[in-house]
Amino acid sequence: LQTSWSLEDTAARRDRYYAASQRKFVPFRDPMVFRRGQMQYLWDQDGRKYTDLLGMNVCVSVGHSHPVVVKAAMEQAQELTHCTTMFYHPVPAHFAEELANTMPKGPKGDIEWVVHFTNSGSEAIDLAMAMARGYTGNLDLLALRTAYHGPTSAAQSVTGIAGWRHPGMPGNVAFVAEPNQYRGIFGQNAGAAPYLDEIERVIQTSTTGRIAGMLVESVQGYGGIIEMPPGYMSGAAERVRAAGGLYIADEVQSGFGRTGDHMWGFEADGVIPDIVVMAKGISNGFPLGAVVARKEIAAPMAEKFMFHTYGANPTSCAAGRAVLQIIREDKVQENARVVGGALLKRLHALKERHSAIGDVRGRGLMLAIEMVKDPATKAPDAQTTSAVFEACRQAGLILSKSGPFQSCLRMVPPMCLSMEDVDDVAQKLDAAFTNAARAR
Ligand code: PMP
Repeated sequence: LQTSWSLEDTAARRDRYYAASQRKFVPFRDPMVFRRGQMQYLWDQDGRKYTDLLGMNVCVSVGHSHPVVVKAAMEQAQELTHCTTMFYHPVPAHFAEELANTMPKGPKGDIEWVVHFTNSGSEAIDLAMAMARGYTGNLDLLALRTAYHGPTSAAQSVTGIAGWRHPGMPGNVAFVAEPNQYRGIFGQNAGAAPYLDEIERVIQTSTTGRIAGMLVESVQGYGGIIEMPPGYMSGAAERVRAAGGLYIADEVQSGFGRTGDHMWGFEADGVIPDIVVMAKGISNGFPLGAVVARKEIAAPMAEKFMFHTYGANPTSCAAGRAVLQIIREDKVQENARVVGGALLKRLHALKERHSAIGDVRGRGLMLAIEMVKDPATKAPDAQTTSAVFEACRQAGLILSKSGPFQSCLRMVPPMCLSMEDVDDVAQKLDAAFTNAARAR
């Protein structure tokens, strides 16, 4: 098969043959074709090098085309590319054991975790929602206003950002205010308490009073890197459980060591979820998602069939096992903590120099800069965000525009980012902000 690598041919084919919905989500004014990737770097059709601060949307956890992951997946694909869970295969079985072993065992050490592999993150969200509704016998779910949980109908129904939700999605979902410490409804640095009261109020006013559960991204991704303040995740779990529900942690972006301090984002608050949803970084780009749940919670789903054709695909699971091995052996989480900490410091320094920056935040290698027209009013500045984003692309930096107002630059790079990259990134961002200020 012949492939044309030219930018013009690729653009023409996309324009003619991709559905409009698949073409929409292109952030760049001047798109490029990516031909090659290696660890934290990408090269385009003309051989130009980029530092990838987006990790192909958080999927590339340990590095583009990481040789250990590629070798594991290739060897598996050559032996047997696909095998469903109808049949026995040891690779997904080993991977399930390894994933379950990353979960907290609880104070008595008796929590048993089980795994259901899916094709994607949003399918895992669907399954988690069904599990919670089936186990509790309640219908209503809570989700956060600036949440993103995926494109399937069920996942859209718990996605708070309206730009990602299409008409006619299923109901029985009540949204609560996100505990945003910069621009949340209770003001700057309001902490967790007023938002926890809000959860109680929403349960009373907008549900039957008995709920199936609540979904929380441990650090919100598309919401613009919104961290949960101390006490929020554990307090939310308490209130949700008091109303008969389950606490569901969405770790699709925040998992696998990305937050630096922990393997899982929820661990920052000491909460033990009932269900954990993961995908993306799980297999460094090979398609896979998983629901990891307490054994008794997953059990009732067996009353009917539930089968995901590519879930537990041994090629993706072989890649996933390699990812866990790399995280363990190459101290990936520690790198996310140290390098992410250094980058955050540089972002704080940039905030001192550039008035367009209203806030910098995040932890580990999950960071964001939020742009405002005026620090006093905090009016979101999508225009400067876009200008800086484009200037960075010209300078060889791939970022992401995020947040409900498209006024945040999100950074979720492969976790092999280095200290030298931090210097380079800070300099390029500085130049981009200086130019944007001149044009403002
Ligand atoms: N949850 C979160 C937090 C996500 O960021 C995403 C994907 N961006 C999903 C769920 C859905 O995952 P997928 O795209 O694999 O369906």
